[in-house]
Amino acid sequence: MALANCERCGQLFNRVTRSICPNCIKEEEEAFDEIKEYIRSHDSATISEVAEATQISEERVLHYLREGRLELSGTLTYACESCGTPIRTGRFCSICQQTLGSDIAGVAKALKQQMQSKDTSGYYSQNPTLRGKGK
Ligand SMILES: [Zn+2]
Ligand SMILES: [Zn+2]
Repeated sequence: MALANCERCGQLFNRVTRSICPNCIKEEEEAFDEIKEYIRSHDSATISEVAEATQISEERVLHYLREGRLELSGTLTYACESCGTPIRTGRFCSICQQTLGSDIAGVAKALKQQMQSKDTSGYYSQNPTLRGKGK
């Protein structure tokens, strides 16, 4: 066990897995439940209204949403991190999620091709020289 300062309140605690102390974890869970409850009963509230009513910063509410732990209902939305389209959970809209997903797949494919072409170009670059010498 290692002693560490809680990232949230600064108190020393025995760090196990989280970077915040057990007290703060409990508070975070309670805050999270409060937000969830509020959204359930006020589905037309805006993020700032939720933040105000629950005494939790807007940033924190958005943090929960982007983690995908919270999902908005009714008319509540917030902006996709990539294109600004209104979304209700996660960090990106479904279109950006698809684009990002295929981007990652594309990069992996390109890398693989690059490695393969490196191997083959090494092979072919030797042959013409040998052939040239032979003629
Ligand atoms: Zn703490
Ligand atoms: Zn988007």
